[in-house]
Amino acid sequence: MGVVIVGAGECGVMAAFALRAAGFDGAVTLIGSEPELPYERPPLSKSADGALQAIRPKEAFETARIKLCRGEAVQAIDRVNKRVMVSGRALPFQMLLLATGSRARKAETLAGTLTLRTFVDAQRIMMHVKPGAKIGIIGAGFIGLEMAATASKIGAEVSVYHNGQAVLARSVPPQVADIIAARHRAEGVHLHLGATVQSADATSITLGDGLTRTFDCVITGIGAVPNVELAQDAGLSVENGIQVDESFCTSAPDIYAAGDCCNFPWRGTRLRLESWRAAQDHADHVAAAMLGARAAYDKVPWFWSDHYDQSIQVAGLFEGSRPTHERDLGLGAKIFFQCDDTGTLTAAAGVGHGQIISKDILILEKIIERRAAVVPADISNIDFNLKAVLKAG
Ligand SMILES: Cc1cc2nc3c(=O)[nH]c(=O)nc-3n(C[C@H](O)[C@H](O)[C@H](O)COP(=O)(O)OP(=O)(O)OC[C@H]3O[C@@H](n4cnc5c(N)ncnc54)[C@H](O)[C@@H]3O)c2cc1C
Repeated sequence: MGVVIVGAGECGVMAAFALRAAGFDGAVTLIGSEPELPYERPPLSKSADGALQAIRPKEAFETARIKLCRGEAVQAIDRVNKRVMVSGRALPFQMLLLATGSRARKAETLAGTLTLRTFVDAQRIMMHVKPGAKIGIIGAGFIGLEMAATASKIGAEVSVYHNGQAVLARSVPPQVADIIAARHRAEGVHLHLGATVQSADATSITLGDGLTRTFDCVITGIGAVPNVELAQDAGLSVENGIQVDESFCTSAPDIYAAGDCCNFPWRGTRLRLESWRAAQDHADHVAAAMLGARAAYDKVPWFWSDHYDQSIQVAGLFEGSRPTHERDLGLGAKIFFQCDDTGTLTAAAGVGHGQIISKDILILEKIIERRAAVVPADISNIDFNLKAVLKAG
């Protein structure tokens, strides 16, 4: 019977391989509703080349004896008989992992606009993104702005409409958001903050002023919603994602959930993340837990985003109310960070050209992981060796 994994995205694929790496010898069946060989999503918004980047080559699945069922959606979970219903057949499981991910948020008033989640979505969008094309984007979150950068680099005329006063999500401090917004404007993107979009369709956006702007293509990037329906229908506990415990086990024994679709305990709070690395970290954790390991999940949230030659990397969680300090790396690269009331470093975000911020963010991530206390003035001081904090701990 073995393990059945629903969802052949980043988390599902990595969990299948992690089970094998940990020595699991039973059957592993990976079922994904998309027809493509499982692929990386981050390049979809960052590059216009249209190439699919496979997470693992086809042969790797065969070598690892992972049965990959592509283009098949699991319709229901039969908890009593421990089986899933897929394409009219019942597939029994010993343990089930839900790695169903999330999907692009849609709105009735924006029907007809394009969204970006899948390879097919990206192909549809890129058909319109050409030099001189007028591209309208609703939402200045990560996907909207990465698409704006990609389209602008190609030579399209890009207008972004965002209802908030700051770009990007709450996950970056305003200082980083401002740097990225300024860069988009410098690249010629028309960035309209505080804009009210009344409605939109495939080629037009109507704003709060009642005027309609026309485009060759309108893309909506207003966030993602977790794919929880399968779990919900099976009576599993769901609240902002499929609820899991420290072992990433759902409210039903032998059914686990991980990746974008799950809501998990972390350092006394609960989180749901939409991040490539979290999907991988979850995969390792849940695979170990399915094989009997019992440890709390303590990986520090980390994600990156690319805009032109600027890279953002964020470790930890920023909180609006806390003071934010700065470490200036020079050459336009900066790191912003926060500590809690006890002086423990809780979050660090870097923004700069290429990989210039990577080394410092890596060390700061380790400091967050160790819950080490820091002196903000030390971290701000560019001559201070960050590794000293780790050595002291
Ligand atoms: C355009 C884009 C750019 C991104 N860029 C970044 C980035 O720069 N940095 C970063 O950290 N993160 C980025 N992300 C987020 C990152 O890709 C996701 O967090 C990650 O893919 C989540 O992995 P997952 O396996 O949980 O879900 P997914 O990758 O969404 O995979 C879930 C899979 O399950 C399938 N599925 C769902 N229901 C069923 C069912 N009933 N039966 C069978 N299959 C099912 C879905 O079709 C999907 O293929 C980006 C995402 C997108 C879309």
